Amino acid sequence: MIVENNLFDSHMYKEVIRQYDEVSDLINLDSNIRERLKLPQRSLVVTFPFRRDEYDEVETVIGYRVQHVLSMGPTKGGIRYAPDVNLGEVTALAILMSWKSAIVGLPYGGAKGGVAIDPNPLTRAEKQRVTRRYTAELLPIIGVDKDIPAPDLGTDEQTMAWIMDTYSNFVGSPQPGIVTGKPVSLGGSITRRESTGRGAVAVGQAAMEKLGKSYKDSRVVIQGFGNVGRYAALDSYERGAKVVAVNDLGGAVMNNDGLNIPELFKHIAKNPSVSGFSGGEEYDGEILEVDCDVLIPAAVGGVITSSNAEKIKANVIIEGANSPTTLNADKILRENGVVIIPDILANAGGITASYFEWVQNTQNYLWKETELHEKLIDVMLTAFEEVWTISQKQSCDLRTAALIKGIKRVAAAKLTRGLFP
Ligand code: GLU
Repeated sequence: MIVENNLFDSHMYKEVIRQYDEVSDLINLDSNIRERLKLPQRSLVVTFPFRRDEYDEVETVIGYRVQHVLSMGPTKGGIRYAPDVNLGEVTALAILMSWKSAIVGLPYGGAKGGVAIDPNPLTRAEKQRVTRRYTAELLPIIGVDKDIPAPDLGTDEQTMAWIMDTYSNFVGSPQPGIVTGKPVSLGGSITRRESTGRGAVAVGQAAMEKLGKSYKDSRVVIQGFGNVGRYAALDSYERGAKVVAVNDLGGAVMNNDGLNIPELFKHIAKNPSVSGFSGGEEYDGEILEVDCDVLIPAAVGGVITSSNAEKIKANVIIEGANSPTTLNADKILRENGVVIIPDILANAGGITASYFEWVQNTQNYLWKETELHEKLIDVMLTAFEEVWTISQKQSCDLRTAALIKGIKRVAAAKLTRGLFP
């Protein structure tokens, strides 16, 4: 059907639609809505010139912003900088953002953006130029009540500050609500940076309790030590779990008695990688295959595949990253009895904290750190309970249950608004 050979076709898009089709069958989704939600409502592809610091080099860079559903409120989702990002990937991620927002009950449709560039070798000045020009190209479709970007892979608080500054200059007044995940000095939320990792561990612990297991004293392995991975590590440590191995692009460290995460934070503040941390040994094997109870993939997508799924020792996986598990791997893991807390639930703490930040910006209101944390955990645990109940009633896995909840809510909003014209 329209999924084959459409503009958005890509491996990731096909996977997202396959999942969606399976769940649509289960819930008997209205056939008109079913086809409609396979395609994003609005997509912008831009190309722009980018000058490297060596002035004789000018490259043409390609960027995207995809808005999936505009029925429930503004659209919302991150912007990623990665060399291989494409329209299909951004679309798939925008669709997942719609389900994610709906699962935690936020008044947003899903969106995602991407710039096909490797941010790692770029200087600060180069990153700033790419960001400002990309923002200028997005002006027709973003806005505080239209579409609100946030960080994702390869972008951070500084990137959001440049987007806010560029947008505010065009509009002629400060517009903190145009992005979330900003520095606190610009109206960013004090807890935004920690929220994805902490939210993931909160639902992970809740899931383990349902399974009759304890998070405290469990052995945890974390792939990635960016914003998501490092706060998942800290939260796990604070809950009394043993974080036995973590890695990042520079290497991996391991300690069978548990790494001292506050000390690792001090190390990472002075060094480019977790590698070289004196509180553990260097590890050069496959991090995902380390013996543990809980595995938290918190880096890039597509890392757990049919080639390594059998080698995973964890009995609980908390998906901190977006789409870390392929559908084939998901099936193998389920057959092996592994419980997966899916990305659209596990990492929804990020967009939930973004929502708090956006509300504070648009209302000129401030909540205290403790209030923000309590609100976050309340939203996450409520969503978890609802998803758990669906999984029990339907005898299905948590990913299917989460999708049932998300898709039903989006479909209900579209059906209630009706057709225009
Ligand atoms: N990029 C994050 C995600 O994939 C956060 C999006 C947001 O805060 O808008 O969930």
